[in-house]
Amino acid sequence: MSEIDFTNIIGFTLSQLKTEFAKIGLTNLDAKRVFPWIHTKSARSFDIMSDVPLKVRKILEENYSIKIPNCVTLQKSRDGTKKALLKLWDENCIETVFIPEEKRSTVCVSSQIGCAVGCKFCYTGTQNFVRNLTSSEIIAQILFWNESVTNIVFMGMGEPLLNFENLASALELLLEERAHNFSRHKITVSTSGIIENAIFDLAKFGVKLAISLHASNDETRSRIMPINNKYNIKTLINAAEEYQRNSNTDHVTFEYLLLKGINDSDANAIELSRLLRSIPSKVNLITFNSWPGSPFIGSSYDHAHRFAKILLGKGIRTIVRKSRGDDVLAACGQLKGKK
Ligand code: SF4
Repeated sequence: MSEIDFTNIIGFTLSQLKTEFAKIGLTNLDAKRVFPWIHTKSARSFDIMSDVPLKVRKILEENYSIKIPNCVTLQKSRDGTKKALLKLWDENCIETVFIPEEKRSTVCVSSQIGCAVGCKFCYTGTQNFVRNLTSSEIIAQILFWNESVTNIVFMGMGEPLLNFENLASALELLLEERAHNFSRHKITVSTSGIIENAIFDLAKFGVKLAISLHASNDETRSRIMPINNKYNIKTLINAAEEYQRNSNTDHVTFEYLLLKGINDSDANAIELSRLLRSIPSKVNLITFNSWPGSPFIGSSYDHAHRFAKILLGKGIRTIVRKSRGDDVLAACGQLKGKK
């Protein structure tokens, strides 16, 4: 079996599909007919594509596939959150999470197998980087749930901006009217703060950006996120400001994981408010979800609310985020593609 299955066409944008089809003598019209079958009519085989000529369907069957990975395990949390472990064509596994809420349902998508960034608080970070996911493997995680999904967050395994090309194809498909037709306001890409071209290229999609900040000064951030040695907080805030302007989004979200005795003092809250005063922002405070062998302890909910009160008092929009699915290790930073 090849390492990556390039015959699966569920992650192809319409223009990629046209280019692919041209290689085997099919037309742009064939591509235009096949495209909505995959994305809006949930076709999982070519034979049901009734408006595609039989001869074309036969050629498609010989050359391509429409595959959703098999589910190895499906766990359901007591709060309704579901976590699926999906097995890819090369036997590697990834996790995707479905989070139902009263007025919306969100899918948390992985972008890589493992992660090379190595944040100290993250379970995925303890697993070595294996490879980038293809755009088909990214889109498959949304199609897998087969439920009405209103929001997508790229907050699963991996650093999305280190797999920008495939992330961009997946975003194009999610935003495309003839495919998934999501509003750009319903998609969030989260980054640990990789300040390279990708963060600026992402702005053209106009999706929401969430930055994993998790510290109010460089000393602490470098300790828990080694990536800070390369892109420090000042560089990150400048990039966030530029992103917010270029993407025409209302604000940038800063994720802040509260770790007891590490980054959760009143002084940290005041320091954080100073960092964010010049940028339209929102802070998501998250209490730490522990995982086997984790070196940190999370701050309590009461403490999180105290921290939030200080930020709110300084005029920073802040919410304390409810942790979802932590009993099945489906919460933030708890994913690991383990069989
Ligand atoms: S938090 Fe994100 S970027 Fe950091 S190690 Fe985990 S998956 Fe990678």
